Order: sequence, then C-alpha cells, then structure tokens
Amino acid sequence: MAEPTNGGARQTWRAEYLAGCDGGRSFVRRSLALRYNGFASLDSPHYGGRQNATYFRAPTLFRDHLAQRPGWNYWVVNPKGRCTIISLNDPDEFLAFSKASDDGAPPTDEEMVRVILRSVGADIPISIIGHWPWTAGVALVAERFVTNRVALAGDAAHLFTPTGGFGMNTGMDDASNLAWKLAALVQGWGGAGLLQSYEIERKPIAHRNTTAARELNKQLANMPLTDAIDQDSPAGETARREVGAHLATMSEEYASIGVQLGARYDGSPIVTEDGTPPPDELERYTPSGAPGGRAPHYWPGAGRGSGDSLFDRFGKGFTHGTQKRLALPRKLDHEPARPRRCVRACWRAR
Ligand SMILES: Cc1cc2nc3c(=O)[nH]c(=O)nc-3n(C[C@H](O)[C@H](O)[C@H](O)COP(=O)(O)OP(=O)(O)OC[C@H]3O[C@@H](n4cnc5c(N)ncnc54)[C@H](O)[C@@H]3O)c2cc1C
Repeated sequence: MAEPTNGGARQTWRAEYLAGCDGGRSFVRRSLALRYNGFASLDSPHYGGRQNATYFRAPTLFRDHLAQRPGWNYWVVNPKGRCTIISLNDPDEFLAFSKASDDGAPPTDEEMVRVILRSVGADIPISIIGHWPWTAGVALVAERFVTNRVALAGDAAHLFTPTGGFGMNTGMDDASNLAWKLAALVQGWGGAGLLQSYEIERKPIAHRNTTAARELNKQLANMPLTDAIDQDSPAGETARREVGAHLATMSEEYASIGVQLGARYDGSPIVTEDGTPPPDELERYTPSGAPGGRAPHYWPGAGRGSGDSLFDRFGKGFTHGTQKRLALPRKLDHEPARPRRCVRACWRAR
C-alpha cells in the first residue's frame, strides 16, 4: 500500500519481491517483527548517546578563524564540551555534531548557536539552517535480513555509529548484492536458495562493520582529556600534546580501507573455495584473487588511464564472457594469483 505524503489516493501495488530500504525506523522491518540485536548505545562523551547534527551558515568562521590552517573536519575537545565541525563548502556552510542535552527534548536554534559559539571560542555571526537528532555509539544488526520474499537493506538492516563512515558504504554493498539476486529471480535464472544467500553473505559483514565502527568509537571515548587542556601553561601544553598523540593513533577513522574493500563472503553457498583468503584487517586491504572477495585492481594492458583497468573491462552481468575477451597475463603484478580466480572473484563486484 502506498500513499502520497502530500495527500491523494492510496494505491495498492503487488510485487514478487520487496526490498525494505526504509532506514533505521524501518516500517518493513517492524512489520516483519524483526528486532535489531547488538549495542543500542555507548556511554561516551564523544559520539555517545543522543547527538545533534546542526547545519549552519557562518560567513566569517573560515575567513577569520580557520583559513590559516584549512581542514575539512575540526574536532573541538575540552572539558566543557566536544564538537566536530565539518566544512561543507569553504566559505560559509558547516555541519556540527555535538552532544545533546540529557533531557531528550529537541534543542532550539538559540541553544545550537550557543553550542557552536562555545566550540569556536569566538563571537561570530551564525545562522542555523537546520538540526536533527541522532544516536551515536550504536552497533545494531537486524536478526534476519530475509523473510520469505522480503529483504532488508541499508540502515533498515544495520545501524552504525558514524566513526569510520561505514554506514552508507555497507548499505550500498547490500544493494549491489541484493540487486543482481532479485534480477536473477525475476528473470527466472536464480535458484530457490539465492535470496537466502543475501542474508548469509551480508549479515556477517554487517556485524563485522558495525563492530569496527564501535571499536573506533570506543577508542575516541578513551581520549585522555584533563581540565588543563585549554590552559595557557606547560600543563596545558602537555595535555594538548597527549590528546594530539591519542588522535594520531586513530588514523583508521579516515583510512580504514580494509573495512571498505576487504569484506569477504567466505563460506557462502554460492562462492567456490579456491585459494587462501587474505587476513581480515581493519586498516589494510590485501588484494586477492581468492573467490568471495572484491576482485583486485589490475591493469590488463599497457594503458594506465580511464578504461584500462580490469574493472573497466568487465562486461555486464557475470564476468565469464569478459574472461574470453581479455587476454590476461599469467600473473598479477601484486600477487601470484591465477587470473581465472580473479575473474571468478568478480562475481560479487557486478
Ligand atoms: C551523523 C551521521 C554521519 C554519518 N556519516 C556517514 C559517513 O561519513 N559515511 C557513511 O557511509 N555513512 C554515514 N552515515 C550513515 C548514513 O547516513 C546511513 O547509513 C545512510 O543514510 C543509510 O541509507 P538508507 O538509504 O539505508 O536509509 P535512509 O538514509 O534513512 O533512507 C531511508 C529512506 O526511506 C524513507 N522511508 C522511511 N519509511 C518510509 C515509508 N514507510 N514509506 C516510504 N519511504 C519511507 C525515508 O524517508 C528515507 O528517505 C552517517 C549517519 C549519521 C547519522
């Protein structure tokens, strides 16, 4: 049943399959009486519990305060509060993530202005464009991803804390996994168990990635913050150096390529075992031709530009056809894998 949000007549649609991509409060998931399992919160001063995301305009912030050391992500850390300010466009638009007050009531614009001014430490003009609440520290995975002919994808299937930036990435991988399986079933060439393989493959990745994000969140929570940090004194300098050193250990927050590219479907009923899978590491991605993982990047010919990489040469659908057209050499330059394995491993990359 569908109903236009601006009024209008209800419509009833019939479909062979349904994908519930309707976010963290998923109507589809709740209609199936499926719970999220995992951690619903983390008691942390930074990215823990209720937070506000505030979209604001501050025309002088970059010009007068940040331009000397331009960045895109500024972390304000002191005993009075913590706030992350993200530059959306250099001159004037920003996003701030800050901890909400405990009462759970939605904040006013004036309150958000006060939070941002306290974080910036200067009296600057600010206009609030909008603010929305969200909950940090969660690592939740739906108990099932598939029920009969209904599948969940994206936040409907798993909820992240944003450390690492894995939520949307994981959801997009769900979508690419589910899309070809639904196409196979609708077109009549998918077998009876194919839809179930979506859950078998994606649910462990949801656990893996939500856990990775939560570990990064915990590391952030352990920041060695003392009252001295904003003092103009040797003790203040020491405190700032300690926080800086702690943040420097958190490079995975922005370079967790192992999480993003290294996910594997070992043990899936539709993946043939062939070769030893690489180790699963948060911050390192080891390219491999072992089926069940992303195909490694490779330049099959002499060219090194757009259209020359292995991924550019894959055909549509499965890559068997492509294999015939490609004259792959016997060895990949970064690992001694057989090209055939690499092509088979690409099944899930389509
Ligand atoms: C503060 C914050 C920072 C983040 N940063 C990152 C990041 O850096 N990198 C990253 O990868 N991810 C990040 N994420 C996570 C990312 O935003 C989500 O994982 C992603 O938006 C989920 O997409 P989705 O399509 O599954 O769900 P949603 O974006 O929630 O979309 C669901 C859609 O379904 C619609 N809908 C719901 N119910 C119904 C209904 N009954 N009928 C019709 N439509 C309905 C909603 O209106 C909505 O448009 C962040 C999240 C937060 C809160």
